[in-house]
Amino acid sequence: MFDIKQYRRKEAEVQRVGSLMRMLPADAVEVLEAGCREGYITLKLAEKYPSVIALDLKLPQIYHPNVTCMQGDITVLPFKDGSFDLVVCTEVLEHIPPEKLGTACRELMRVSRRYLLIGVPYKQDLRVHAMKCIHCGTINPTTGHVNTFDEDLLKDLFKDMPLGTVEYPVTGVYKTNRLSYGLYKRFGFPYGSYEQEEPCIHCGLPLKKPHLNILARMVCLFAKGLEFLQNKTGPSKSPVWIHILWDTNRRDS
Ligand SMILES: [Zn+2]
Repeated sequence: MFDIKQYRRKEAEVQRVGSLMRMLPADAVEVLEAGCREGYITLKLAEKYPSVIALDLKLPQIYHPNVTCMQGDITVLPFKDGSFDLVVCTEVLEHIPPEKLGTACRELMRVSRRYLLIGVPYKQDLRVHAMKCIHCGTINPTTGHVNTFDEDLLKDLFKDMPLGTVEYPVTGVYKTNRLSYGLYKRFGFPYGSYEQEEPCIHCGLPLKKPHLNILARMVCLFAKGLEFLQNKTGPSKSPVWIHILWDTNRRDS
């Protein structure tokens, strides 16, 4: 089972959240957190800002005098244009189906009257920890991440925004290689992130780890060893996340 409390204590996660907290503007009052999950970031926002709306697909259960919980979809936000001083959206856009991604980003820009802070995984290798669904037979990327982001894609998605402030928290993103991935695929992806909360992105049923015979297990261990060496000796130390804060008052015109 995925333990979110344990996940929040991991060093990389502490650094990711630390970066977000550093980037928060001081002069905002009305704040929207679009995609708040269990409310970990929401409660930190509520310590800083007097009015925080916490929105998610399922109605959030977050109890704090400064927080109002709302059920809603990021691709059709139930707010008027420019409703918030600050809109925060982290660890969400990588889950949005690619055909709806542009709409989601436009919605975030639409409801913000000044600041927009987004955070996404940076150049994530979506083959790492992939899984095969035993129900529908399709391949699932880890934790339902269907998009991988770099500066060009973000510039394109948020092209109406001025230049933003950027941070790249945590270095050393984990990568795989064609051989290891090919072997995992042959044996049904035994090292996928099967403990995740997200079900299969194609059929919605829970993802289950495959059972391997001893030979298959040894082949996959070899593939894993190869991947480990690649990541130990690899020359590039690419960041794990990218955070961008836009301030539309900084637009020169
Ligand atoms: Zn499935």
